[in-house]
Amino acid sequence: MTSERLGQVLVLCAPSGTGKSTLSGRLLAVFPNLSFSISCTTRAPRAGEEDGVHYHFKTQEEFLGLKDQGAFAEWAEVHGNFYGTPRAAVEQMLASGRDVLFDIDVQGASQLKYSFPQGLYVLLLPPSRDELLRRLRGRGTDSEETIAKRMGNALKEMGRAAEFGYWIVNDDLERAYAGLRSVFVAGTLRPACRPNLVQGIMDGFGPGL
Ligand code: ADP
Ligand code: 5GP
Repeated sequence: MTSERLGQVLVLCAPSGTGKSTLSGRLLAVFPNLSFSISCTTRAPRAGEEDGVHYHFKTQEEFLGLKDQGAFAEWAEVHGNFYGTPRAAVEQMLASGRDVLFDIDVQGASQLKYSFPQGLYVLLLPPSRDELLRRLRGRGTDSEETIAKRMGNALKEMGRAAEFGYWIVNDDLERAYAGLRSVFVAGTLRPACRPNLVQGIMDGFGPGL
């Protein structure tokens, strides 16, 4: 079949508060073949977050046990909590042709490159320091102490921008979404994602007219 293609990896990184969840939510709503990689975390659930939907919430002991078993494709300590990507779930989704979206931090993205070098690695940037602060406060989910930690981390994360294949500034939401959508769609058109496409079309020609 000419429409058959392999699942692709889309990694979206950004300083916390930039708008990753907002943009990934839109992409997931529009592309039914795209699934979210549900991470494990030791962070406490925020209001409205469900276990097994937004994250798999774990105790520190549970998390470290999984890490020691090699269950994570990557893991990192972010803002004082552990986060990790369960490898088996991702591999299953990719093998069945589903695209997988990762909302992970910069340290995790560089580890993930070893497992998925062909992935699309996107860094989303805030338009300015003041706007990032405004968004973090406006979200109303974090204490001032947590916000200060996240602002400190933002500079470190942006300092590793060269590790990414795509940079998108989330100033205007529509423009940022259009950029992200373009990267994703262009990714699906790469020959590596559709190894049998051309042969399938050529086979359909048959002999003669
Ligand atoms: P992240 O997942 O990166 O931590 P969120 O998606 O939770 O960030 O966004 C943080 C806050 O910024 C939310 O209140 C969201 O509605 C808002 N936001 C996201 N994108 C924009 C944008 N382009 N312009 C203004 N506000 C935005
Ligand atoms: P939050 O606590 O705001 O949900 O996430 C904090 C940071 O952890 C974000 O930058 C988010 O992308 C990152 N994160 C979430 N899941 C994972 C994961 O599985 N691995 C890594 N390395 N980072 C993650």
